[in-house]
Amino acid sequence: MTPSLEPFGNTEKVIHAAPIGICVTDADGLFEMVNPAYCDFYGYREEELLGQPFTMVVPEANRPSLIDLHERFIAGESDLEATQEWEVQGRDGQPKNILAKAARIRDGNGQVKKVTFVLDITERKSLEQRLEFLAHHDELTGLLNRRAGLGLLEKEILRSRRYATPLCVAICDLDHFKRVNDRYGHAVGDSVLSETAELMKDAMRQHDHVIRLGGEEFLILLPGVTLEEACQAVDRLRQRLETTPLAAEQLWLTLSAGVAEFQGNEEAEALLERSDHALYRAKHEGRNRVRVTA
Ligand code: GH3
Ligand code: MG
Ligand code: MG
Repeated sequence: MTPSLEPFGNTEKVIHAAPIGICVTDADGLFEMVNPAYCDFYGYREEELLGQPFTMVVPEANRPSLIDLHERFIAGESDLEATQEWEVQGRDGQPKNILAKAARIRDGNGQVKKVTFVLDITERKSLEQRLEFLAHHDELTGLLNRRAGLGLLEKEILRSRRYATPLCVAICDLDHFKRVNDRYGHAVGDSVLSETAELMKDAMRQHDHVIRLGGEEFLILLPGVTLEEACQAVDRLRQRLETTPLAAEQLWLTLSAGVAEFQGNEEAEALLERSDHALYRAKHEGRNRVRVTA
């Protein structure tokens, strides 16, 4: 038999010393007890929480659903609430993430209460979100990475086939980028790349996708536009880059681009190859220009 701690009056000490947040709320959702770890986590003093509704640590948008959940738990059959993740907020308004589990208890007078155990998982959650982001994005520029971009291209190809809508792609490559690194160093090269990426996102339409294929090479997907429109859009981007000084050093860079329109029967690889071929021609013919596949 598990020895009971109660006869020795130790429960309060145990709760007080617990490294995880513990609170007791009454049937109306008002705080009746909070331990020091709970107060530390949310940044409130004990007296600021007691008697207040538990929703004061919940972002406004989630309050109605959490009040509903609380009421159903108080009135329901089960004495244990499933472990769940929640977004909460402390005194400073910063969002935090918790893992919470609750039990229904009765006090000496038979009143129903809810005791909730709260584990801080904010750091884990933000690492998870960062990993999830990095699985699909390039760290330097924040653009979609090659793998995600090629996946998106496959989807756009399917859509173009299904609805018989046009789809164009452009591969853009910065001209003589190596000179930037050689002359000003890698960090300046990095700034040029991230500023170019920003400029590209800004210059293209909302429906277009800008992807960092690798190094100083970018892929732009332009769904729903003809080859002529795509060339115009990419040329506008080329002109903008040409006239925008980049990085603290105010460097002027240009880009070359190869544009190709998807033909209903080809694979993504063939489409990219045609676009790459046009890029090669743009470079060969003197750079700072847009070329299309013949
Ligand atoms: P071209 O006009 O023929 O494209 O010449 P280029 O110098 O732009 O092309 P090249 O392929 O010779 O050089 C690309 C350079 O890009 C070489 C590489 O060190 C640099 N690079 C690739 N990725 C990064 C990066 O993430 N950061 C920085 N700073 N440089 C990079
Ligand atoms: Mg280049
Ligand atoms: Mg290159």
